[in-house]
Amino acid sequence: MFDLVIKNVKHFETNQIINIAVKNGEISAIKEADTDLETLKEIDGQFDLILPPFVESHIHLDTVFTAGDPWWNESGTVMEGIKVWNERKKSLTYNDVKQRALKVLRLLIVQGVLHVRAHVDISDQNLTALKAILEIKEEMKDYIQLQIVAFPQDGIISCKRNVERLEEALKLGAYAIGAIPHYEYTREYGLKSLDICFSLAEKYNCMINVFCDEIDDSQSRFLDAVAAKTIESGLYERVTASHANALSLYDEAYVEKLLPIIQKAKLNIIACPLISSSSQGRSGGFPKNRGITRVKDLWNAGINVSIAHDDIMTPFYPLGNGNMLQAAHMAVHVCHMTGREEMEEVFNMITKRAAKTLQIEEGYGLQIGKPANFITLPVHDKFEAIRLQPTPRLVVSRGNIISSTPKNESKLYF
Ligand SMILES: [Zn+2]
Repeated sequence: MFDLVIKNVKHFETNQIINIAVKNGEISAIKEADTDLETLKEIDGQFDLILPPFVESHIHLDTVFTAGDPWWNESGTVMEGIKVWNERKKSLTYNDVKQRALKVLRLLIVQGVLHVRAHVDISDQNLTALKAILEIKEEMKDYIQLQIVAFPQDGIISCKRNVERLEEALKLGAYAIGAIPHYEYTREYGLKSLDICFSLAEKYNCMINVFCDEIDDSQSRFLDAVAAKTIESGLYERVTASHANALSLYDEAYVEKLLPIIQKAKLNIIACPLISSSSQGRSGGFPKNRGITRVKDLWNAGINVSIAHDDIMTPFYPLGNGNMLQAAHMAVHVCHMTGREEMEEVFNMITKRAAKTLQIEEGYGLQIGKPANFITLPVHDKFEAIRLQPTPRLVVSRGNIISSTPKNESKLYF
């Protein structure tokens, strides 16, 4: 006797119509649609597409829903975003962070996201945001899995107290450590900040996620340093570089040299097309930079790339709704990936490739014996999912339906 059976759903990879059965929080059977399965509860999947949950590999839970407070980022640049946030974070309280972060996690669950990597700024004196989000991680663990990165928004060398705070954050339970080398006062500071980041990661045996070259400066070259340190430290897949926007501004000869080093390092790259297409390319005149790293070139070089939604109504980006398909839709455009195989790959970048970035592949996927985490989308296939970006009809976590959204249907009266 199974606990739950979802009948008549279309497998996202094989396109077969199946019945899927759950017992004790795990996927216990995947059978052809006409197979009878004895169960306590049965739901008709209405021929929706069934797939593992979306994975949000880069978001900030401390800055969400603060856009416009204390002022709107009118220039749209990352630099003005940091200024606004520096002002806003002076008034952070435990409850303020908790309420906003919980609101966004509920929104992400509705959108079918059950795995999240969240960057939390540790530049505030009392680590208020970090402590609040660590508490939420525990409170929400039956519904959504959180990885918390201790993120030094104001730098590590340029804001010296952040070294102690990073260490404190790791002791408190942060899962990974960050750095922001391109934002340090000088290139030398940037390199030193990476030394500290990698040595703390080795000391505390944690993952690394660096904000890397998120700037319209073709001279910002920290991706090579991150890759080299990844090889030297032997940390490989445990290291990720977010953004890497300047990679799109380097000349071809340098990129030809760099990509094999990134590949050798097994470094993960995360692109955030919503915020990057908006915040980058703001300086100077035309022609404009598309504002996103070389997703297609990285993929073709065999490097693991994931696409993240990133900010939701923050001082850095005023929009966002937690729908990963919105980020995929933007990626298809700004990365010039409208080919059939390319769109398929962009879909992977918000699902299994993002799971690889988070190193959660073992418990991720639509296979017997894996945790019963999956979603159903009212579409025919992955391409229609990117085109229409629907909210999942069902979200199942550990075998329990934790969210449902009726399909949006319009009527014409003529
Ligand atoms: Zn970000």
